[in-house]
This record gives sequence, C-alpha cells and structure tokens, in this order.
Amino acid sequence: MPAAENPTVAMVEAAYRHHKLDWRYINCEVQPALLGSAVRGAKAMGWAGFNCSIPHKVAVIDHLDGLGESAGIMEAVNTVVRRGDKYIGENTDGKGFVQALREAIDPNGKSVVLFGAGGAARAVSVELALAGARHILVVNRSNERGRVLADLLNERTPVSAVQVVWDSTFSVPKDADMVINATSIGLYPDIDGRLDLDVASLSPDMVVADAIPNPPRTRLIRDAEARGCRALDGLGMLVNQGVIGIKYWTGVDVDASVMRRTLEDIFFS
Ligand code: NDP
Repeated sequence: MPAAENPTVAMVEAAYRHHKLDWRYINCEVQPALLGSAVRGAKAMGWAGFNCSIPHKVAVIDHLDGLGESAGIMEAVNTVVRRGDKYIGENTDGKGFVQALREAIDPNGKSVVLFGAGGAARAVSVELALAGARHILVVNRSNERGRVLADLLNERTPVSAVQVVWDSTFSVPKDADMVINATSIGLYPDIDGRLDLDVASLSPDMVVADAIPNPPRTRLIRDAEARGCRALDGLGMLVNQGVIGIKYWTGVDVDASVMRRTLEDIFFS
C-alpha cells in the first residue's frame, strides 16, 4: 500500500515531525527469498534499525547479531536496533501492550485470561510474564497452538500458565484481574465479530484489553464498558510499540498522544 496510507508509517512520521527529528520511516516490501539481502542492505546503509512484519518475524533472526530477552523467548522479532556495530532483534508488540496496560493496572501479581495463542498472544503473554503476572489462562480454539504457548510460558518464564480449549461459551473466572483478546476476532472487515464469551462473567473490577486496532471500538470493548469494566483498545498497543521503537532508534521519548491522534484520524474517519 502507498506509504501515506500505512498507519504505522503515518504515526511514526507524525512523531518525527512533532519532535523535529530529521529521520525517516519508510515502508519497503521484501520478498521472503531476498530477506538476507535486504538486511545486509540496511546494515550497509547504516540504518538505525527497522521494523519487520509477517512473514519475516521469525526468518529475520538468522540475519541478526543477537536478540533481546523477550524476543529470544518468543523467537520472533518485530524491531531491529543497531547497537554499536551489531543489529539486535527486539519485540515491541508485547512491550507496547504492557506499557498501554500500565495506564490502568500493574500486571505484577495479577491473574490473566488470554484469548488466542498466535503471534500477538505470544508477545503479550511473554511480556506480561516478565512483568510479574502471577497466572495466565490461555483460551484458544486450537488445542495444539494453545498447548505450545502454555508450555513456552511455563518452561521459559516465571509465570504459571494453564491452557483450555475454547470450544464453547467461555465464562471468565471470578478471580481474573485482566481479560485480553489477542485473537483476530473483530478485526476489519469482521467488525461485528464477537468472542464466544459469557459477557455477564465480566465484572467491573476487571480490566479488559483488546489487541485489535482497527476498528478500535470492537464488540468486546463495547461489551466490557457496558459491564462497567475499564476497557483498553488496540490503539494503545500499536502506539506504544511505536514509542518504544523510536526510543530504541533515536534515543528520544516521543509524545504518544501525537501518534494516537494520527491513528484516530485514520481509523475513525
Ligand atoms: P495469528 O494468525 O498468529 O493468530 C490468530 C489467533 O486468533 C489464533 O489464536 C486463532 O486461533 C485465533 N482466531 C482467529 N479466528 C478465530 C475464531 N473465529 N475463533 C476463535 N479463535 C480465532 O495472528 P496474530 O496473533 O499475529 O494477530 C492477532 C491479532 O492481533 C490481529 O488481529 C492483529 O490485528 C492484532 N495485533 C495487534 C497489534 C497492535 O499493535 N494493536 C500488534 C500485533 C497484532 P487458532 O489457533 O485456533 O487458529
């Protein structure tokens, strides 16, 4: 898609303009067979770093000089950062989520219900575990993917994780502090997509967060608000992963509200 229509490009460049940073963030499409050449090109040109998206998040690791802690556990990279003469892979998806979540709740010691076991769920749950979450219940349609994620969390992070197969309407346990949607249910164009969840099991003391950025006001967000819960949309995750990436590359703490307004102009227009 043209750069001007890419929300991440628009958001990052808005932050650069606002802070008068003489930097550029450009969108390049790289064929999987040419990924190594592309990374060598970025290194040769001395780029401060880059983001990478599906299908490159795992394959890029072979072309890097090292990994940050959570990227090493997830075995997936969405952000590459030049440190000295090394290009290090990080994963800011989960870090962005946790940074957004902290506006509402500190994950330390908390009990989490997590819908999904794909890339977003993996990033979010590993970062929650490293932030001190006490327990994560992985609720996923496919048994195999859910089991793999619960095993990874138990074996490679301090959290205690349990998996349940999501094959009927799910009731959130009363002791849950947070409920998170990291599935793709509700993502445009499936805007009426609704989790198979007993909405009455959401109580007002729970924080409900949705990873879906588009549209920001998903059915889950609206259901959670109607139940009196504090609800966090997926824009916060997207904005904060951008804030963290820019800090890695430029060393500057940018104003998240500038980036959020840019996304709102795109997604609410
Ligand atoms: P994946 O394809 O890796 O995983 C998709 C997950 O959704 C799986 O757990 C899958 O279950 C589940 N799922 C999909 N459809 C259904 C359904 N109808 N019923 C039950 N479960 C379903 O995708 P990602 O993890 O990469 O991305 C998930 C979402 O997270 C995307 O929509 C994306 O927009 C969002 N995201 C948001 C970010 C942000 O910054 N806000 C950053 C990254 C992602 P199963 O295993 O059974 O197939």
